[in-house]
Amino acid sequence: MLSAAASARAILTSLHEVMASRSNAQAKLNRVVDVIGETLDSEVCSIYLLREGMLELFATRGLNQAAVHVTRLAVGEGLVGTIAANIETLNLAEAAAHPDFAFRPETGEEKFHSFAGVPIVRRQRAVGVVAVQHVEQRRYEEVEIEALQTVAMVLSELIANAELIDDDDGVGSSAHMTGAERLNGLTLVKGLGSGVAVFHQPRITIEHVVAEDTEAERQRVYLAFDRMRQQIDRMASQAEFGVGGEHEEVLQTYKMFAYDEGWGRRINEAIDSGLTAEAAIERVQQRTRMRMRQIDDPLLADRMHDLEDLSNRLLRIVSGQLGTAASQGLRGDAILIARNLGPAELLEYDKRRLKGVILEEGSLTAHVVIVARAMGVPVVGRIRGLRGMIREGDPLLIDADQGVVDVRPSPAVIEAFESRFARNRERQAGYAAMRDVDPVTRDGKRMTVMINAGLRDDMPMLNLTGADGIGLFRTEFQFLVSATLPAREKQTRLYRDVLEAAGDRQVVFRTVDIGGDKVLPYLRHNDGESEENPAMGWRALRVALERDGLLKSQARSLLEAAGGRTLNVMFPMVTEPWEFDAAKAVFDGQLAFLRKHKKQLPEAIRFGAMLEVPALAECLDILAPKIAFLSIGTNDLTQFLFAADRANPKLAERYDWLSPSIMRFLRRVVTTLAPYKVDVTVCGEMGGRRLEALALMGIGITRLSITPAAVGPIKELVRQVDSREIGAAMEGWLAVPPPNLRQALLDWAIARNIDCD
Ligand code: PEP
Ligand code: MG
Repeated sequence: MLSAAASARAILTSLHEVMASRSNAQAKLNRVVDVIGETLDSEVCSIYLLREGMLELFATRGLNQAAVHVTRLAVGEGLVGTIAANIETLNLAEAAAHPDFAFRPETGEEKFHSFAGVPIVRRQRAVGVVAVQHVEQRRYEEVEIEALQTVAMVLSELIANAELIDDDDGVGSSAHMTGAERLNGLTLVKGLGSGVAVFHQPRITIEHVVAEDTEAERQRVYLAFDRMRQQIDRMASQAEFGVGGEHEEVLQTYKMFAYDEGWGRRINEAIDSGLTAEAAIERVQQRTRMRMRQIDDPLLADRMHDLEDLSNRLLRIVSGQLGTAASQGLRGDAILIARNLGPAELLEYDKRRLKGVILEEGSLTAHVVIVARAMGVPVVGRIRGLRGMIREGDPLLIDADQGVVDVRPSPAVIEAFESRFARNRERQAGYAAMRDVDPVTRDGKRMTVMINAGLRDDMPMLNLTGADGIGLFRTEFQFLVSATLPAREKQTRLYRDVLEAAGDRQVVFRTVDIGGDKVLPYLRHNDGESEENPAMGWRALRVALERDGLLKSQARSLLEAAGGRTLNVMFPMVTEPWEFDAAKAVFDGQLAFLRKHKKQLPEAIRFGAMLEVPALAECLDILAPKIAFLSIGTNDLTQFLFAADRANPKLAERYDWLSPSIMRFLRRVVTTLAPYKVDVTVCGEMGGRRLEALALMGIGITRLSITPAAVGPIKELVRQVDSREIGAAMEGWLAVPPPNLRQALLDWAIARNIDCD
């Protein structure tokens, strides 16, 4: 018997001739079944192709010719249908003994006992089946099956070139990938969006399957392996500075696969059989995919993803199709599909065309999610097997408010979505039209409504929303999107650009709030251990005071960037007043340095603190004389007041911002600071919600810094409210709390026609 490589090569050589001949597609298929039959010494060889959703017998040697274009099987029906539905190979000594066997009398197949069939796969979907049959009862040898699988690859190219199948016709592994489907995931960034599916890592199209020069193909694979290993080693060595957890595991697996000799050997064998480098990699990948599919183990399925990723990486290197979808540019409204993304990768996309992101992984605190939120791009995460259910170019609707994605939506679903979308847009247009109208209450009080920002890209939002300034500039975003610690010059440039874009409007820079859940790979606690409670751990000012090189460099950057202007700087997570003093001392030191070197200094420096840790509220009398402003970070503050992790979805609904305890706490802060010249701002998410903002106005808060999308709705709210009236109502409710403060506020607003949803 011929070796696998030799028999496959013999078939490939003959097929190459058939493909190059000038006959029509049907004649070529007729030749193909003869070639395979002769080479494998097989009595029957048949090709079934998917047409109009059915597997149709297109060519046969050995079965009745009258059955050609007559015998048709549904996907999942009979042995052929099962092979296509499961994208699996069947190798049976007695076909009729298989539970899925379906007898078709017109074929005359009753005298043949053994049966082997492999799927013809295109873009990971079955588009047909090639099968061999024998009279004698026997299982086929591995080499025969492999030869058949190689043939199936060539056939997929021939079929596509001859346009024998509709390219959209295909059977996925589990889903048929044609009908509408609704996928449920986890809301990571709220919002609605529609567009076509774009894979962050585009699928590689393999142009040529049959090699002209086997040695040249082998060299190409060697080189590609070398490059891939270098890339993985580089990633792993960067990770050694501390990525930790899931990431590290993935890299270890990558490394294991990248150096796996078996993998390389199998690719080499496929090249021996006459395939091009690309086809050989894909061929081995297909075989692994088929094997893995038979093992029902979630852990293995995860590893399969890793190998799939790596195999795609190798394919990209070998084919020179290196770029992500970002480098090719988005051509229209797009929804990005990825297993996971880095924040910097997301930033490479054209924000105007990126309408949503869907991730197989992802968590609320992932850096990419923080950045997407800042970009205003809705994100749904945690949809397993996503890439097997969506095809490039599929129309998608993402409703991240509800954590659902509609794939290939029906007209009714599109209609419902569009009307929601239109209502949203109408509202947005209304807010945009009113952006220059000041947020003044009915009794003439001017509220200050600012935005939270963190990227250069956020700056246009100032003009678009008509906000009064930036009440919170999260400087850590620049650190999060960078692979290494941003150089001082880079920091200075960003701060200067931000100040320039803001013009006369105030910008409050918060020094880096990293550590905890915002881990930087290049900055880690000395002992390298992960923390049990990162939100209450080594983060923000705690890191900055210990690693004062970081704070010094940021201080210098901010002071230089604000030369000739006012610099507003605040420190996150101040827990005791001495921490504020220590951080300010770092700025004073840098200021003295700049003065000595005759650099241009800021015209004025205003220092502030964030109130996020409840303990600080007990010492405000000590802190207040030293600060110009206090910003209340209600995201962190409430998690500490309620002892409820803000990232834990189980607790998300349990405690309400509109509870007497939070409101009394905040009111006490406002009252305590009233005698001092200290601006008090709320910069947590709650300030961007109307009912919450109403309550805050009721306890005397006049400054809000919120997510840009909320500026319009909040300014509209302010104009509808009489601050004295809500002040009196809140006073009453906080003295004797009603059973449900939220409901009381809502009833109050409805009675006055104040729109609060
Ligand atoms: C907060 O804690 O409320 C806050 C604004 O800071 P961050 O969300 O960045 O922790
Ligand atoms: Mg915070």
